[in-house]
Amino acid sequence: MSELDYQEEGLQQQGSQGHGTHDLIRRDPRVEWISRNRLHPQHAEMVTPVGEVRGPTGLLRKNPHGLGYIGPKGIKRIDRLAIKAGESGSVLGIRRGSAKGQKEQLLPLATVENPDYTLVAVMDLVGGRLTGHDKDVLGQAHKLVQALNRDASDPHTNNGAVVAVVFGESKEEAFDKAGVDRIIHLQGESYEGYCPERRIAALSAIEAQLQPRYWLFPDSIHGGNELGSRLAAKLGERPATQAWQVDTEVSICRGGGQRTDISRKTPRLLLLAEECADPIDETRHQVLPLELESVPSVITRIEDQGQVAVDPNQIPLAEAEFILSAGNGIHDWDQFHRAAEQLGATEGASRVAVDDGFMPRFRQVGATGTWVTARVYLAVGISGAIQHMQGIGQCEKVVAINTDAGCDMVKRADLSVIGDSGDILAELLHLLEIRHQGGAEDAA
Ligand SMILES: Cc1cc2nc3c(=O)[nH]c(=O)nc-3n(C[C@H](O)[C@H](O)[C@H](O)COP(=O)(O)OP(=O)(O)OC[C@H]3O[C@@H](n4cnc5c(N)ncnc54)[C@H](O)[C@@H]3O)c2cc1C
Repeated sequence: MSELDYQEEGLQQQGSQGHGTHDLIRRDPRVEWISRNRLHPQHAEMVTPVGEVRGPTGLLRKNPHGLGYIGPKGIKRIDRLAIKAGESGSVLGIRRGSAKGQKEQLLPLATVENPDYTLVAVMDLVGGRLTGHDKDVLGQAHKLVQALNRDASDPHTNNGAVVAVVFGESKEEAFDKAGVDRIIHLQGESYEGYCPERRIAALSAIEAQLQPRYWLFPDSIHGGNELGSRLAAKLGERPATQAWQVDTEVSICRGGGQRTDISRKTPRLLLLAEECADPIDETRHQVLPLELESVPSVITRIEDQGQVAVDPNQIPLAEAEFILSAGNGIHDWDQFHRAAEQLGATEGASRVAVDDGFMPRFRQVGATGTWVTARVYLAVGISGAIQHMQGIGQCEKVVAINTDAGCDMVKRADLSVIGDSGDILAELLHLLEIRHQGGAEDAA
C-alpha cells in the first residue's frame, strides 16, 4: 500500500466524515474545507489545539503523544489539517472539534488471544466510573506487559493480558479505551458499600485462579490502599507503596512523608501513586469478561451501616468531591449559598471573593489557598487567573458559568454556560426544586 493510500485511509479514520451503511467510512469534504479555511466562522470549532493539557501545577503542557493520529495500520501520522475528534471544551453544549458529521476517532484494537500470563489491576471506580488514578494504574500495567514481552526470549509466544477487577455498580463506558483486556466484574449486594473482607475473599480466589504476574492497586483513600495492604498481609508478601516509577527490575517509591524516594526491587504487589504512568490513549482493548470459578463465603465482622449525611461544608476543601466556587462574578451571595446547599456542594472561592470579605479565607482555592482534587469543580464568575488555575489542576471535570466566553476558565472548562451567574443559578435552583418535588424527569 502506498504512502498516499495510508494518508487517504488515515484521513477517513480521523473523523471528518460519517459512517454510512455497511460500515463504509465516508469523508466529509465540507468539514475538511472549513478546517483548511482559517477565515471561516466555524473554523475554530473544527480545529482543536491538540496535545495540550494543563498539568497539576496549572502549567499548560504540550503532550507530544497527542499530536497526529493513529492510522488504520496502527502507524502514527502527523495530522497536518489538525482535524481531530474533540475531547474537551464545550461552550453552550457545542463540543469543540466535534461538528455535525464528525465521529470520534476509532483507535486500533489491541487484542490478546490466549494470554500466557495476566496482570491484575484492582480499580477504585469512584461513583461507578474509572478515576484518573485508575487509568494511570492501567497505563502502568501495560508498561509492565511491554517490558515483560521485551524481556521474553520469544515475544510472540509470550503475551500478557491486563485484567481489571471492578466491584459494585459500574457506569463506566470506556474500559476499552482505558486499556482493559479482560474484566472481572463482581457485583451484587455483597460487594456494595464497605466490605473489605468479601472483596479480599474474591481477590484471593482470583489469585488462586490466575496467579497474576503482578497485582496493581491505586494507592488511594478510595479503597485501593486498604485492599492492597489487606491482600499483601493475606498473601504474606511485602508490597511497594506510593510507587511512582516502576519497571520489572526496580520500583521507586515515595517515603518519609513524600520527602524521600526509596528504590527497591519490584515486588509482585504494587500500590501505585497517581501519575505513575501515562494512561492508555492510542489503542482500544477487548474488555472480555472473565468469570471467577468460585468465591469462598466468608464470615464478616464488619457491617456497613450505610452513609451518614454530612454537611458538605464540613468536608475539608482539599478532600471535597464536588465544589461550587464563587468569584467576583457573584452578585447575590444568598443565592450562591442556597445553590451550594441544594446541590450538596462544598463551597469554594477565588481570592477576590475572599479579599472582598464575602467568603472566609479557608475557602480560597488556588496557589495561596487550597489545592483541590474535586471530581466536579463548578466555577461561577471566576475568570481563571493562573494562581486560581494552579489550585484546580487536579480536578477531573470543570464547569464554568461566566459572562465572558473568552476567559481562561471557559477555555479550561469541560463544559461552559455563558450568561449571568444570577440568572443561571436561579434556573438551577428552579430545576432542583422541581427535582426535589419529585419531577425528576422534568428537571433532567
Ligand atoms: C501572589 C498572588 C497569589 C494569588 N493567589 C490566588 C489564589 O490562591 N486564588 C485565587 O483565586 N486568586 C489568587 N490570586 C489572585 C488572582 O490573580 C486573581 O486576581 C483572582 O483569582 C481573580 O478572581 P476572580 O476570577 O473571582 O475575579 P475577576 O478576575 O474579577 O473575574 C471575575 C469573572 O467573573 C465574570 N463575571 C462578572 N460578572 C458576572 C456575572 N454577572 N455572571 C457571570 N460571570 C460574571 C467575569 O467575566 C470574570 O471572568 C493571587 C494573586 C497574586 C498576585
